[in-house]
Amino acid sequence: DSRWSLHGMTALVTGGTRGIGNATVEELAGFGARVHTCSRNEEELNKCLKEWEGKGFVVTGSVCDASSSVQREKLIEEVGSVFHGKLNILVNNVGTNIRKPTTDYSAEEFSKIFATNFESAYHLSQIAHPLLKASGAGSIVFISSVAGLLHIGSGSIYGASKGAINQLTKNLACEWAKDNIRTNCVAPWYIRTSLVEYLLDDKVFLDKIVSRTPLQRVGDPKEVSSLVGFLCLPAAAYITGQVISVDGGFTVNGFN
Ligand code: NDP
Repeated sequence: DSRWSLHGMTALVTGGTRGIGNATVEELAGFGARVHTCSRNEEELNKCLKEWEGKGFVVTGSVCDASSSVQREKLIEEVGSVFHGKLNILVNNVGTNIRKPTTDYSAEEFSKIFATNFESAYHLSQIAHPLLKASGAGSIVFISSVAGLLHIGSGSIYGASKGAINQLTKNLACEWAKDNIRTNCVAPWYIRTSLVEYLLDDKVFLDKIVSRTPLQRVGDPKEVSSLVGFLCLPAAAYITGQVISVDGGFTVNGFN
C-alpha cells in the first residue's frame, strides 16, 4: 500500500547524528526515503553515515551549523544537487537551550537560542520552498516542544522560540497549501537524548518530571520519530497546520 511508504521520496533532516534527529533519519529511511542530514561535528557525522550504510539505508550528509545563514544556503544548494532539484520532506529538528532565569540572559544568549531554534527553521523552510514545490508533494515537520505551549521552567527564550515555531506551522500550512506542501509540528515533552541527559540523571529532577506525566516515564527518541514519519507519509495527506504533542499525557494533566 503506497500510502504507508516513502519509496522514491527525498528528505532533509537537520541534526541527524543524535537524539530525535537520529531516530528520524532511520524512521524515514526505513520507510524507503533517501535522506540527507547535517550536524556540526564531522567525525560523528561520518560515523553515523557508516552505520546507516551498514543498515542498508541511503543517507548522505553535510557538515553545517544550522544557526549560520551562509551555511544554511550552502546546505540547501547541496541538497538540491544530491536530490536533483526535488525535496519531498524537510524535518527542522535542530534546537538548543540555555536554562536561566529571564533576568540573567545576555543579548548574545538570546540571539544564539533564536538563531538555532527559530531562524534556522524559518530560513531553511524559506530557501527549501522551491525544492519542496518541485517535488509535487512536500511535507515540512518542525520539532518544537511542549515548552512552546506551556511554562515548564526550561527558560523563556527557548519557550518563545518554540512558540514561534508552533505559529509558523500554521502560517505556512495555509500559505503553501497551493503548492501542495503540508506543514506540521511535533511538540515533545522530556525525551532521553544528549540535550537533556544531564537533567534526567538528577534523580530529584527526574522524579518531578515523571510524577507530572500520566504515563509515568520520559520518552524515547523513536516515540517521536514515529509521529514525524507518519506525518510525512501519503497516509497523512489531509493533515496540515497541526501541532501535536508527544508527551505521555503531560499537557492534558491539569492537576494531580
Ligand atoms: P540533541 O542535542 O540530543 O541532538 C541534537 C542534534 O542536532 C545533534 O545531532 C547535533 O549535532 C545537532 N545540532 C545541534 N545544533 C546544531 C546546529 N547548530 N547545526 C547543526 N546541527 C546541530 O537534541 P534532541 O534530539 O534532544 O533535540 C532535537 C530537537 O527536539 C530540538 O529542537 C529540541 O529543542 C527538541 N526537543 C527535545 C526534547 C528532549 O527532551 N530531548 C523535548 C522537546 C523538544 P552537533 O551538536 O554535532 O551539531
